[in-house]
Amino acid sequence: MADLEEILSDNLVKLRAENLDRQTIATRRLKKAYISRNGRKLLSFSCNDYLGLQGNRSVIKAAKSALGKFGSGSCASRMITGSNDLYDELEAKIAEICYTEAAVVFGSGYLANIGVITSLMGSRDLIIADKLSHSCIIDGSLLPKAELKRFAHNDLESLKTIISKYRKNYKNCLVITEAVFSMDGDTPDLKKIKEICEQHDAWMMVDYAHDLNHLAYRAKVKPDIIMGTLSKAVASYGGYIAGSKNLIDFIKSTSRTLIFTTALPPSVVASSLKALDIIQKQKWRAKKALDNAAYFRNIISDNLPNLNVGKSSSQIVPVIIGSVEETMKLSEYLLQKGFLVHAIRPPTVPANTSRLRFSFSSEHERSQIDRLCKELIKYFRKN
Ligand SMILES: *Cc1c(COP(=O)(O)O)cnc(C)c1O
Repeated sequence: MADLEEILSDNLVKLRAENLDRQTIATRRLKKAYISRNGRKLLSFSCNDYLGLQGNRSVIKAAKSALGKFGSGSCASRMITGSNDLYDELEAKIAEICYTEAAVVFGSGYLANIGVITSLMGSRDLIIADKLSHSCIIDGSLLPKAELKRFAHNDLESLKTIISKYRKNYKNCLVITEAVFSMDGDTPDLKKIKEICEQHDAWMMVDYAHDLNHLAYRAKVKPDIIMGTLSKAVASYGGYIAGSKNLIDFIKSTSRTLIFTTALPPSVVASSLKALDIIQKQKWRAKKALDNAAYFRNIISDNLPNLNVGKSSSQIVPVIIGSVEETMKLSEYLLQKGFLVHAIRPPTVPANTSRLRFSFSSEHERSQIDRLCKELIKYFRKN
């Protein structure tokens, strides 16, 4: 007999034995990159609020005002009555930031990736995605009956080999990568990928979820499809696709994750609008977050040159340990010292590449990073 409770508890025992069970822990965000959890105040290097906008006064004021004017929920999908003036304004602003003709906002970045890929690709098509692509890119690529191939992470030769070998067997081809990889903080050569796509009659899609530069400054390469999130640096909620007017019109008519779900609450849309405005006006925020990470990388390479910090060039810096157990141990140690740095384990990252993922923000101060590094140095000199 298939006893559900029995199957669940067997599986949970297995997950716990491998240190792969996951929990939700109530956390409250405080000022200056601190959080409070289990009654303790911790300095967090695990939040995606890279630009310190989550508690920003003008953002909160804009959200409150939208609540008063439009009410709590949007109460229908975008295509019925869920759209409003704020949505139009937000989409126009995103198109302006991305230098595209148009943009459309989805309920989340996850839904945006799934929506656009399933709208565009079908059974006669080929999707080629970076091996380390985010789960929602992979889920989105598995949903339509298209063929999915993966190229080695940030490896242009691997991409060229796959595209040369397989492109001709399919009608359309979509190449997908990320501007900044979420668990490694590294960046591909987007210009070269664009050239490969053009040579092989393929479309290029880039996920900018963790890229601060494109929000504050300008994306240097223009992919056919730009994807981004409003849930991380923008500190609100939602995801977007930006591109040509035809692309956006087509998505609005066909994307199931846009059509068959309720529009975001107006206060959330208002938060995004205000936050984007601040990001564009106060470019020091993006610069400071990136500088903080570079400062950390420099201290580590001077003092712990054998530590594997990957090829990060962004506000995300991994310290790759390998084993789940050792990674948890380091995370635990830092926790005792007052720092929150989450351990990232499979299946979020490949087996044997468990790591601590440090995310730096414009809220962190150099003195805080100095204190963190001191503990890391102490730990690795002892162990
Ligand atoms: C977080 C993330 C998403 C999903 O965005 P949400 O708005 O959180 O759903 C998509 N792609 C990448 C690379 C991400 O890191």
